[in-house]
Amino acid sequence: MRVRFILFVLLALEISSCSGKPEKRDTSVETKVFTEAEKIQRHEYSAEYLLGKFNQKTDTSFALIPIKYSSKEGMYLRKETIAAFVKMYDAAKKEGVSLKIISATRNFNEQKSIWEAKWNGSRLVNGKNLAQTIKDPVERAKTILRYSSMPGTSRHHWGTDMDLNSLENAYFTTVEGKKTYEWLKKNAATFGFCQPYSVKNEMRPNGYEEEKWHWSYMPLSSVLLKQYSEKIKPESITGFTGSETSTKLNIIEHYVKGINPECR
Ligand SMILES: [Zn+2]
Repeated sequence: MRVRFILFVLLALEISSCSGKPEKRDTSVETKVFTEAEKIQRHEYSAEYLLGKFNQKTDTSFALIPIKYSSKEGMYLRKETIAAFVKMYDAAKKEGVSLKIISATRNFNEQKSIWEAKWNGSRLVNGKNLAQTIKDPVERAKTILRYSSMPGTSRHHWGTDMDLNSLENAYFTTVEGKKTYEWLKKNAATFGFCQPYSVKNEMRPNGYEEEKWHWSYMPLSSVLLKQYSEKIKPESITGFTGSETSTKLNIIEHYVKGINPECR
């Protein structure tokens, strides 16, 4: 008898919760998302940060990328970028597309090592030692700039940009590479990602060659690009071998701002 009574009470509770007034919607999550977005918009990013002069390993806005998502240990991105990437990774996985981060944040000093190695010939560019084959500094810089940034001008400084799967254009002509790129073109925007170095044409006449592997988390990087344009002057691009070519090459206008118009 007692058991029956308890069952009756439980049933009555169940019915009342189904037929009662609609529950008040919990808007706390929405409010938080809005606040975070607003925070990003309103935050003043320092010139030092925009130029990559910081350490991502100790900066609390950054986090280590879990190895599941990357090709090697020890890579960092801004926390918001990782959160958005994880959602994109899961969605891609469900459709048989595997995304792997192969390069992420590189600060000024890391970019300086890459740039100077290419400049002085210790790292070959297209199989060539540029220090021996291109004597003219502007021409040598232009050759490196086909795919590599000058220190202080790279989107990889910001913790919003990443290279996915392969740095070779040939990969994106394979069955797997094509499928991956097509998926990204169709779906990446849903997760906030955009391909800044799209094909070069009248819409994007300047800057780096097309990079199908390079993707950027727009909710953050569009704000950073805007502030970069306001705060960084050509004379700030200095502190590495060959930096004197930056003004002749109009590096900020043509390279930093020379991106896919959809990624602004
Ligand atoms: Zn890249």
